[in-house]
Amino acid sequence: MRVAFLGLGIMGHSMASNLVKAGHEVAVWNRSPDKQVEGARSATSPADAATGVEVVWMCLSDTKAVEGVLFGANGVEQSLASGMIIADSSTISYSATLRFAERVKARGVDYVDAPMTGSKIAAEAGSLIFMVGGEESVLARLQPLFQAMGKQIFHMGETSKGQATKLAMNLQIAMIYEGFAEAVTLAAKLGVDVEKLLPLIQASMVRSGVVEYKAPFILKRDFSPNFPLRLMLKDIRLALDAAKESRVRLPGLEAVEEVYDVAAEEGNQDLDYAATLTLLEKWAGVEVKAAVSK
Ligand code: NAP
Repeated sequence: MRVAFLGLGIMGHSMASNLVKAGHEVAVWNRSPDKQVEGARSATSPADAATGVEVVWMCLSDTKAVEGVLFGANGVEQSLASGMIIADSSTISYSATLRFAERVKARGVDYVDAPMTGSKIAAEAGSLIFMVGGEESVLARLQPLFQAMGKQIFHMGETSKGQATKLAMNLQIAMIYEGFAEAVTLAAKLGVDVEKLLPLIQASMVRSGVVEYKAPFILKRDFSPNFPLRLMLKDIRLALDAAKESRVRLPGLEAVEEVYDVAAEEGNQDLDYAATLTLLEKWAGVEVKAAVSK
């Protein structure tokens, strides 16, 4: 298929490369022009990338970035043609997604929100999991592209339901991790060996994929970003915004937002969100670490 891929960040670069490897004709565009993808045409603007393509796929930081790329100067809007599909894998606002979809629909263009789960490693391996909002027939047309970038697609309903689902997913990741981080901090302060605690957690109903994934990094004190804290904070705020708009109260998530706010203010925004642990440790005056590294 002829595809424009916009946004070559941590995730987008690998996703666009996988589209090229699967034999699609890809034009790429990135705000900072230094990023390219082997085998793809480097376009000069979003409008240039989108000229003559069947699908425009975006993977950008946030709502503002998506709005600018679609509707700003030299944006995708200039090159819209009836029958085109816009797919967005960025995690952005639920209500803005509805507005963007409405605006392009007037030009005969379908809009699919396709945020994903799986980090850099899954993007490289082409094993992302997508949660998608859009019409069944439109999703069917996108199948070859989903297959090139991911291993599973969950169709959650009409356009915007992918973003709604993603917010519900990341809300859980943030809160499960916060629960784990608070538990290990208290346990360490009370003198419990974290290496004895971990197998107990995973043998009991407390076990979780979040703990399984994050615990080895914590034991190594490796807080390099697999999913940066700044992006998790963005997602927490998106969930809180969606909750406010729909009159839902999320007091637990509000408390977690405060922890992320302080962690970001203290300069941890580009580390992994697992680094929120270091703030709890600082407040407690203790460090959670493996016995071997003591
Ligand atoms: P990233 O590495 O920070 O890349 C962000 C991309 O957005 C870059 O290409 C950046 O361009 C572009 N961008 C930012 N602001 C822009 C603007 N105003 N106008 C145009 N382009 C702009 O982020 P990522 O990790 O790839 O994540 C991308 C999206 O996927 C985010 O919404 C994130 O929440 C979501 N996501 C990420 C992960 C993960 O593990 N990383 C997992 C699931 C979902 P420059 O190169 O010029 O800065």
